[in-house]
Amino acid sequence: MQHKPHSRPAEKGCPGCGASDHLPLSHIPYGERIIKVVVCCHCAIGYQRNPLSSEDLVRYYRRQNVFHSTADGSRQASLTRSRMTFLDSVLREVGNRGGRPLVMDVGCGYGLFLGSLPTSWERIGLEINPQRAVSARERYRINVLEQRLEEIELPTAAVDLATAFGLLEHLPNPLQFLLAIRRILKTGGYGVVNVPDLDNPLIAFSRFFSVEHILYFTRSSLTALLARAGLKVVKIGQTVQDYQDIACVFKPVRYRTDTVNPMPPPGEAARIVRAVEEQKRWRSLFLRQALTALGESDIFANLTTTAIYGAGEHTRQLARYLLPVRKIQIFVDSNPDLWGKPFLNGKIYPPDEITSLGVRDILISSRAFEEEIIYLLRQRFGNAINIHRIYGRSMQKENASSLRKKKI
Ligand SMILES: [Zn+2]
Repeated sequence: MQHKPHSRPAEKGCPGCGASDHLPLSHIPYGERIIKVVVCCHCAIGYQRNPLSSEDLVRYYRRQNVFHSTADGSRQASLTRSRMTFLDSVLREVGNRGGRPLVMDVGCGYGLFLGSLPTSWERIGLEINPQRAVSARERYRINVLEQRLEEIELPTAAVDLATAFGLLEHLPNPLQFLLAIRRILKTGGYGVVNVPDLDNPLIAFSRFFSVEHILYFTRSSLTALLARAGLKVVKIGQTVQDYQDIACVFKPVRYRTDTVNPMPPPGEAARIVRAVEEQKRWRSLFLRQALTALGESDIFANLTTTAIYGAGEHTRQLARYLLPVRKIQIFVDSNPDLWGKPFLNGKIYPPDEITSLGVRDILISSRAFEEEIIYLLRQRFGNAINIHRIYGRSMQKENASSLRKKKI
């Protein structure tokens, strides 16, 4: 059959300011496509020039929708705790205003944040993923609407606190979203967003530049975007230690005029490009250290009973530099689409098959989900396998007794 070329959508201008001049920043291989990430020379927001269509993104999200434990000790639970800590003074002020505060969490997920707020508050969640919406309703008795912010009918200036955690970077039109937030906020109400930080020194290790992240912010580009939406930053900081983010509390300003058009300082785009290059150099240094640690360990003594969890780019990198990895035959991944497929010198299996395959040692080759994977493996297999981590701490064997000490 003749190969049919993809229809290529026109490359888009900056979603933050509409300008088209940009500097290249990174690229994301996706099937046969290469998605280009650039940084805008005017507003310094990083963005995908040729993002997936919304239909393709929905397909992508369905596939990714695997790894979200909400149990104590899970990543979701610890994220929620750090957000509550960051927002402590804001939540106290909202609570002290009297009446019944109205809080809206856009993209509320499993409802952990809203579920942590007093039940006497009016808590509304927006969540377009049906399973998560059901989970939030059932577990926390929260009012969850399966709608987007732009679709809901809510009176202007009704909300005391509007939050959107890990959402803005997924949106094709961030300015429109922030204007909608501004519209629903009371005078004196607070808005909160958090996004991954392009100035994150760890970005080169994680899937930072990912298909689902259409936008990339620094503190200065986020602050300027908020200002263009008529929103003023009152607190900006970080809530996540292992995956550095920007968390930001803001308030509506009284008048938004189009003559005010704040932009980050000139040269910010070029600075970002240099910083990302530096981080990539840092990554190769780290990789060498990890390889040294792995080279000195004994986990590759029996290659037929050693497996690697994570059939992705990290593992390809390890295999490129470390000979024993190339001889491993068992790879485990949580993504069902990968099961049964060949990878390096072996094949990819579901986590459930670990013990029937006779695996004794498993190496976790994922930075972002290292804790979750270890937690789930321990729950399923107890002490039947030895788990080794690379990223969270220096190469170290995890055993059940140390996990118990940590109360995971
Ligand atoms: Zn721009």
